[in-house]
Amino acid sequence: MAIYRNDDGADPNGYEEDYRRVVDRADAARMLPGSTIEIIRDPGRKGPPRHVLFDFDGTLSLIREGWPEVMVPLMVETLLATGTSESPDELRRVCNDFVTHLTGKQTIYQMIRLAEEVKKRGGAPEAPSVYKQQYLDRLSVRIAGRREGLLSGRIDAREMLVPYSLELLDDLQGRGVALYVASGTDEPFVVEEVAMLGLDRYFGPRVYGAKEDFRAFSKAQVIERILRDNRLDGESLLAFGDGYVEIRNVKEAGGTAIGVASDEAGRSGRPDPWKRDRLIGAGADVIVPDYRDFGPLLDYLWTANGE
Ligand SMILES: [Mg+2]
Repeated sequence: MAIYRNDDGADPNGYEEDYRRVVDRADAARMLPGSTIEIIRDPGRKGPPRHVLFDFDGTLSLIREGWPEVMVPLMVETLLATGTSESPDELRRVCNDFVTHLTGKQTIYQMIRLAEEVKKRGGAPEAPSVYKQQYLDRLSVRIAGRREGLLSGRIDAREMLVPYSLELLDDLQGRGVALYVASGTDEPFVVEEVAMLGLDRYFGPRVYGAKEDFRAFSKAQVIERILRDNRLDGESLLAFGDGYVEIRNVKEAGGTAIGVASDEAGRSGRPDPWKRDRLIGAGADVIVPDYRDFGPLLDYLWTANGE
């Protein structure tokens, strides 16, 4: 049962919605003085945040950085095998477009689309779950060094985190809020990688990810459960995310959404322009490139929330 859906976006089968722009332009956007924090709209005077939800990949973790460079070539190969007359370059563009458009949803949705594209070209598609497994197998090769490095201690967790994640989480924990992770990545991987990065001390068991039946999980369901279990209304909810799904879901629940336009490969402290625009379009209240200004950010959120 998903309550927090736009009427026009409701899907009786429990599918996640595609990206749809709900905010055209950031008219009143301003920078918080002397910081990297861009305020799109003030959250208004409500109680201070009490429950804080994080997306995982790109919002905290960089372990899976570069995944499109694995997914897109796999899709191009799969479509070439149909015998299509399109060139690899053309196919790369096609795949890049729909992968990008669907980014933020669970991986299976990109694979559902791949199966449709195979069919369109006269091929006999595999089940989307088969494509997803092929992708995960290749991705696991790409990120094996990172995971092994974290486990052995060769790589410091900070190198695999969006900058200043630990400082942000420490500060939040000190404010006594409950912290949650909700990720479109398969739950066993999320639980494992949360621990590898030493983040289990913040999130404990409150880590949620995709299930084998993709309709058994959505970020909207996690938000709904947090609110129901704690008898809260959405105003006390704060979320951090670099994808549109969590931003949309938390806005639909009445909470405050921080869009994290993280530069995953460069960790430059400058917002990724594509993410920034897409997050503003999804309704983000605030945009940050990472958490280097976590102090002013949380002070702003707590005072702007009328504490
Ligand atoms: Mg993400």
